[in-house]
Amino acid sequence: MEVFIEPIGRLINEFSKLPGVGRKTAQRYAYKVISMSEPEAAAFAEAIVGVKRRVRLCKVCGNFTETDVCEICRSRDGSQICVVKEPKDVIALEKLHEYRGVYHVLHGVIDPMNGVGPNDIRVKELLARVNEGGVKEVIMATNPDVEGEATAMYIAKLLKPLGVTVTRIAHGVPIGSELEYADEVTLARALVERKEL
Ligand SMILES: [Zn+2]
Repeated sequence: MEVFIEPIGRLINEFSKLPGVGRKTAQRYAYKVISMSEPEAAAFAEAIVGVKRRVRLCKVCGNFTETDVCEICRSRDGSQICVVKEPKDVIALEKLHEYRGVYHVLHGVIDPMNGVGPNDIRVKELLARVNEGGVKEVIMATNPDVEGEATAMYIAKLLKPLGVTVTRIAHGVPIGSELEYADEVTLARALVERKEL
């Protein structure tokens, strides 16, 4: 017999789908929701549905946006493109207030072991952007792990014949780590001290 009555059990199940949330934590979250007022609970649920309804990918860079083309693409220097794996990497780099160019979000990295090839990430969209002209430098800012390095090298090879400078963020970012978790000083230095590929 299920210990929880159906509506509570259902909510616990939903919360356990979140990363890092086990049954115990999911249970705590569910009880918290039960203790909310109805408007509070409605606002909580609406925020979840709202991101799904309102957030889409920028047609140019692939970052999350509410409009067709994101604010960064609309307002910044398009001659420099910083290539990252995921939208959260854009946030990590934006927090530095160091970079004034635009981004390109790959939504993954090449990872043959897990069946991810170049066609499964936004590589051809990047080539199309560079082919349109006006791009002087492409900064490869994928994570400094095996897949991130391989992806950076692969893309650099495709871009070089197009006449752009391709650089790689310096190894201030610890090898095998994720950009998101690098401290801001380290990440800022990695960006400033980037090397040509
Ligand atoms: Zn954009």
